[in-house]
Amino acid sequence: MERTLSIIKPDAVAKGVIGKILDRFESNGLKIAATKKIQLTRSDAEAFYAIHAERPFFNDLVDFMISGPVVVSVLEGEKAMAKNRELMGATNPKEAEAGTIRADFAENIDANAVHGSDSVENAAIEIAFFFSEREIS
Ligand code: UDP
Repeated sequence: MERTLSIIKPDAVAKGVIGKILDRFESNGLKIAATKKIQLTRSDAEAFYAIHAERPFFNDLVDFMISGPVVVSVLEGEKAMAKNRELMGATNPKEAEAGTIRADFAENIDANAVHGSDSVENAAIEIAFFFSEREIS
């Protein structure tokens, strides 16, 4: 069994599609091993996206991620990381395959509904960023 981290971003939370997005995971063989709704602080968002610190969109990304609450979840299942990335669709919703979360719920590349870990190694780091082991079952 593999684990990955999902974030339902502020745009999707504001739209009221938390349940619809979590349903995509459960309907496609991913278990929700942990979940919580939280408001990120600026330093949380800067630390979480530190890998993008030098990118031109970094400040806008941090502003966006703290613009409202997010839902962070640990998803568990066979090939959970890749499965979640497949369900999410491409970073730019205009390029996302029909039926993916971003194609169905995202507006644009800045407000693209969900985050998902992009490797199994990063998943472990990102899960530990938000959850203690006793919160995951
Ligand atoms: N992003 C953006 N503008 C860009 C590229 C990325 O705002 O030109 C944001 C977008 O929200 C994306 C996040 O930065 O989800 C992280 O980018 P990454 O390339 O890691 O995409 P992801 O793994 O989220 O598909």
